[in-house]
Amino acid sequence: MNYQSTRNKDVALKSMEIIKQGISADGGLFVPIEIPRFSTQDLHKLIDMTYVQRAIAILSLFLTDFSLEDLTSCVHSAYGTGSFDSKDVAPVISLSDDFFVQELWHGPTCAFKDMALQLLPHLMSTAVRRTGEDKKIVVLVATSGDTGKAALEGFKDVEGIQIIVFYPEQGVSPIQKLQMVTQEGNNVFVAAVKGNFDDAQTGVKNIFTDESMIKMLEESGYAFSSANSINWGRLVPQIVYYISAYLDLLKKDWISEGEEFNVVVPTGNFGNILAAYYAKKMGIPIGKLICASNKNKVLADFINTGIYDRRREFYKTISPSMDILISSNLERLLFELSDKQDDKVRKWMMELKERGVYKLDSQTTSRLQDLFWGGYATEEQTMEAIRQTYNEYGYVLDPHTAVGKWVYDAYRKESKDKRKTVLVSTASPFKFASDVLRSIVGEESIKDKDDFMLINILSDISRMEIPAGLRELDKKPVLHNTLCSREDMKNIISSFLALDGVVK
Ligand SMILES: *Cc1c(COP(=O)(O)O)cnc(C)c1O
Repeated sequence: MNYQSTRNKDVALKSMEIIKQGISADGGLFVPIEIPRFSTQDLHKLIDMTYVQRAIAILSLFLTDFSLEDLTSCVHSAYGTGSFDSKDVAPVISLSDDFFVQELWHGPTCAFKDMALQLLPHLMSTAVRRTGEDKKIVVLVATSGDTGKAALEGFKDVEGIQIIVFYPEQGVSPIQKLQMVTQEGNNVFVAAVKGNFDDAQTGVKNIFTDESMIKMLEESGYAFSSANSINWGRLVPQIVYYISAYLDLLKKDWISEGEEFNVVVPTGNFGNILAAYYAKKMGIPIGKLICASNKNKVLADFINTGIYDRRREFYKTISPSMDILISSNLERLLFELSDKQDDKVRKWMMELKERGVYKLDSQTTSRLQDLFWGGYATEEQTMEAIRQTYNEYGYVLDPHTAVGKWVYDAYRKESKDKRKTVLVSTASPFKFASDVLRSIVGEESIKDKDDFMLINILSDISRMEIPAGLRELDKKPVLHNTLCSREDMKNIISSFLALDGVVK
């Protein structure tokens, strides 16, 4: 199977090539030219398989230039070696007869980013090896918190690849920051950028297409790639868990064959929910795709109006991984919804870049609204959702997932849609212990306590074990303390990589 660019549909590249490149030279994102479909019989074969086996079967439909042997080895390294603390990898639990939660945070960094980032480095390193690539790959990451740590964990000590992570100085939680600045590994670099996530992300995006930077790297034997969710190798592992969720629901008799179910996705860069859209296109009976935003509700407004307008105040919230005003992966959806009109996609993306706003035509808007429902939760509503869910089910949500829960309730109320629903849980509540405890027990409970004391209290309340990745964090030495401005990012990269010359 080949891949095309959302900004030039005549591109046709193999999956190894696009995973290495990350983003298309024309600035577009890579998408499969054809989306494979599952028949009922195909799906049946997967029901009794383990997560690893399901992943191999599903990924082999998309990554057709990887040998089955290579793919098997990549998937095993990612999900089969005990780095996930659940044997099901992405278990679905039932909170009621019609409401389920899929826990995507059993990986080493306690956020759903591990689902993709435990696998991507192996895919990339295999692609480098099998294509006879002579350049060393430099993976550049802009992170709103969870991606950075997950990418560092995934890529550390992977051969032939260097990884550089930029995180917004003011945009990540204390634990997220500590996770990153204590990262070990012989190929990892971490720097804080003054500003918010969009500053860091825009900085990285500009560097990817900066001619002088690319030339200088080339001369030193390096080439850039991306581990952000613009890389297809990040997206495709996420399709697997939506299919796996359906198979689990079937296996446990929680739904019947072909019965439609809705999914609710706490959304930021639109990667996770886009994977659900692809799963639906593959034949999984997903009903409504419910897109949940926090106070930065650019996506909720977009779905409701067809107008994407980033010209608005940026809020820092208690769900920081969703504090995003430019949702990169939307470009892939627009390409599909507009019947692959790359000229239209180019125009919309140019308008977004130059004016900060674009408006869909009415046909694309109605297609968008048929598939998706968009809602949002304020900070108070997010905390309310954590409290209510704990009181009703004894189950503790992290703030991101709580945004999803609030929006799910709002959707049910407005639509009267009774279909069963899976809420994807994107982070362990332990990662955001203080806001979670503040929501459940109140402000008093967290006063004068540091994050590590709070983690212990949360463990008592939730009767959940503290995840291994967070247990010893406060005893690790800080290894990375670079701080730079957006303008400085290029120079930081050349000094990290010890390149000759300073980039202007
Ligand atoms: C990244 C992240 C999100 C947003 O996912 P997108 O794919 O960017 O939409 C939501 N919750 C958590 C905890 C995350 O880390």
